[in-house]
Amino acid sequence: MKKHVCKLEHFGDPFGQKFYAICYGIDMSSCIALVVGAGRGHRFGSEVPKQYGHVGGYPVIWRTLAAFAGHPKITAVRAVIHPDDRNLYDAVIASGEIPNLLEPVFGGPSRQQSVCLGLESLVALNPELVLIHDAARPFVSGDTIERVIEALASSKGAIAALPVHDTLKSSAEGFVKTTVDRTGLWRAQTPQGFQFIDILEAHRSCPKNSPETELTDDAAVAEKAGMAVELVAGNPDNIKITTMDDLKLAEQNLTSMEYRTGMGFDVHRFCKGDQVTLCGVSIPHAFALDGHSDADVALHALTDALLGAIGAEDIGSHFPPGDGRWKDASSDQFLGHARNLISKQGGEIVNVDLTLICEDPKIGPHRQAMREAVATVLGIQQHRISVKATTTEQLGFTGRKEGIAAQAVATVKTARLA
Ligand code: MG
Repeated sequence: MKKHVCKLEHFGDPFGQKFYAICYGIDMSSCIALVVGAGRGHRFGSEVPKQYGHVGGYPVIWRTLAAFAGHPKITAVRAVIHPDDRNLYDAVIASGEIPNLLEPVFGGPSRQQSVCLGLESLVALNPELVLIHDAARPFVSGDTIERVIEALASSKGAIAALPVHDTLKSSAEGFVKTTVDRTGLWRAQTPQGFQFIDILEAHRSCPKNSPETELTDDAAVAEKAGMAVELVAGNPDNIKITTMDDLKLAEQNLTSMEYRTGMGFDVHRFCKGDQVTLCGVSIPHAFALDGHSDADVALHALTDALLGAIGAEDIGSHFPPGDGRWKDASSDQFLGHARNLISKQGGEIVNVDLTLICEDPKIGPHRQAMREAVATVLGIQQHRISVKATTTEQLGFTGRKEGIAAQAVATVKTARLA
């Protein structure tokens, strides 16, 4: 394995925690993540162990491995798997390339024994630090990983954890026995990070009894060995997928809706004529607007904003100006096309905000008619449609009354795209 050498310029706080790391010879860049997924998942109620279930299109353990492999301070990642799951694991790895992934090793009959075997497998690699993490926690954030590693500059062990906010009760036969003081209580998550040698020794010397009595996390193993373990902030999303309901909830969160914004801008010049069409409303004027279609500059900007929100190119690629079909076309069909594309994706338009930029004609008297016309085409309520106008103080081409410019912003609620 590539051994990273600690360089002073990597560290920005020469008299802080990282300086301590240098003084004590801790090579902070040599950090292996051990992802423990050797359990059978008795509470999961499925043929396939929970860590191989899919969430948001990817297997849980793939997401977990990728989260660590993609972190700049993780040197390599190793999975600890059940011997029966080798084929499942190989199929998972084929889901997508994961850099710096070591060959998996087989775990034992309990979590504690699996971690111990995983640590033994790293002896030859001799990392400075190891982060131990549950395979069933695929939503660990890069920030959480970072905080654990940072804490190891001054601590032998550090775990991600969250303070308990709920009131705790102890019970007897279904009734409250007493209220437990939650002061100083934390929920332990993973990753749990350690100086490699220290946690290896702690595990080697920790009794291994039956799976029922063995320790359920590595901070407990460290604690038995008398190591000081620091608490750093975990994150609430870093859930452990234990039941099928957890998997469904995670799936819902990942596939929930997202809000996307697009903007559009358009200009048309004046030409001979006696009316302009803005937002589909015909307004008497000393000039007309020049264009291949009806030159409705407002609807063109709105159409581009909606197309932009869903990443669907622009009005010109959907309706090429050279195409005879759109000669003198009413622009509400362009807007309707953008609306249909959004509907096909299961999306909905949240709001649109349009600004017309011209000296004349005056927009105010026609504002309400424009909102109604746009509401009809988009099929949304008028309170979701804003039509505004401004002049440019007689500056520029709009100030010289050579044409009209329009800009628009649209927000679209759509299914989260992977
Ligand atoms: Mg146009």
